[in-house]
Amino acid sequence: MHEMSLAEGILDIALDYAKKNNAKKINRVGLVVGKMSGVEPESLTFSFDMIKKGTLADEAELVLRRTPLRGRCTKCGKEFDIDNYDFWCPECKDGVLKIISGREMQVEYLEVD
Ligand SMILES: [Zn+2]
Repeated sequence: MHEMSLAEGILDIALDYAKKNNAKKINRVGLVVGKMSGVEPESLTFSFDMIKKGTLADEAELVLRRTPLRGRCTKCGKEFDIDNYDFWCPECKDGVLKIISGREMQVEYLEVD
C-alpha cells in the first residue's frame, strides 16, 4: 500500500519538526500533491488518520493542495498547464513540454502548538 508508506513519511517529518520546536501538539499538516503524483488523497488521509493516533499528531488535520501538471516548452520557454496529456507546445507548436510540476508530493507547512 503506497499511501501508507507516504503517510508514515509525512508523520515522521511532522513529529521530527514538532520535537525540534518543542511543540506540544501538531494541529495541521499542509501538503502539496501533484495531480500526476499518483497519490490518492482519500487513501492518504485515511492512512494518516490511522497511524497518527497516540502521537503528537493525534488531532492533526491533513490539508492537501493539488497542483496541476505544468510544463515548459523546450523551444520557446513558455509555461503551460498540460491538459489531456498533450505535450506539444500550444504557442510555437514546435516544441515539446518538459514537466516542471505536478509530480511532487511534499510537506508544505506545519502548524504546531
Ligand atoms: Zn513553444
